[in-house]
Amino acid sequence: MRKSKSGLFHFAAAALPAAILSLGSAALAESAAPSCDAGARQQGGLLYCTGIAGTIVKMDGKPVAKLNPAGQATIGLERDAPSSVSITLEDANGQSTTETIEIATRKDDYREITGLDCDKVDARTQEQKDHAGRSWVKKVAAFKRFNEGAGFTQGTIRPAEGVMSSPFGPTRKYIGVSAVTGEPCDSVSVHRGYDIATPVGTPLLAPADGVVILGDPDLYYEGGSIFLDHGQGLVSVFMHLSEVDVEAGDVVKAGDVIGKTGNTGRTTGPHLHWSVKWRNTASDERDGDFYIDPALILALDEGN
Ligand SMILES: [Zn+2]
Repeated sequence: MRKSKSGLFHFAAAALPAAILSLGSAALAESAAPSCDAGARQQGGLLYCTGIAGTIVKMDGKPVAKLNPAGQATIGLERDAPSSVSITLEDANGQSTTETIEIATRKDDYREITGLDCDKVDARTQEQKDHAGRSWVKKVAAFKRFNEGAGFTQGTIRPAEGVMSSPFGPTRKYIGVSAVTGEPCDSVSVHRGYDIATPVGTPLLAPADGVVILGDPDLYYEGGSIFLDHGQGLVSVFMHLSEVDVEAGDVVKAGDVIGKTGNTGRTTGPHLHWSVKWRNTASDERDGDFYIDPALILALDEGN
């Protein structure tokens, strides 16, 4: 099932010499010009950088990544990233290179939906609020754990059988009136994951190698959840699971069964919600991290 390492690069860097198509070798990376000109160059996508270990990568002047001991790093691109970004790689010897990378725009759907039950929005009872609070603390702690790894450069396995039921990116504005107070309310949400329609109990596969940083059967909104750190700041988040078969610290390989999909937490029906969080490896501040589009990562590995 796994593709060759070079498969990743055909998407954005088909013209590069074969010698630098491998991400896995620091020696090769050092012999080539340091660059972030590979990956999914689209809003919501991901740039792959290669160069000398320890190099700091800046995007439009802001540090966004540090190359790992293998000379690799990733840079996430926000949903509303500009159409062009300036990338500077500064190694420990003071050598610096700058490149400009064009970013393709995306067109996400926007929809207003009426009929929201205002009296059921978010946690309401003290018990629900306590549960949501405990869940939030666990998530924040998990996202502070970093492991080395190849990211998605070895290829990406679709984490469950089934058709996509909702893409990453659409904005939904839900509008309603409270039956209790008569007050109007609304709730705006952006879908930051990739949903796969799955019957409860469908095997959940690790899409790439990684280390589990959270395995919890009962987060308030997310239900049964697994956070899997693939390295280079990239974390797969799986929600609404009926079964969680791993715990924090477990090392898993691409294709390993790590749980079962379900209908737990706040859902509208059985499905797997898969999101991929990109974290800034040049900073200890976690508030600049964000979710990228899993479909773009799958596309890097399919049909290229
Ligand atoms: Zn979802």
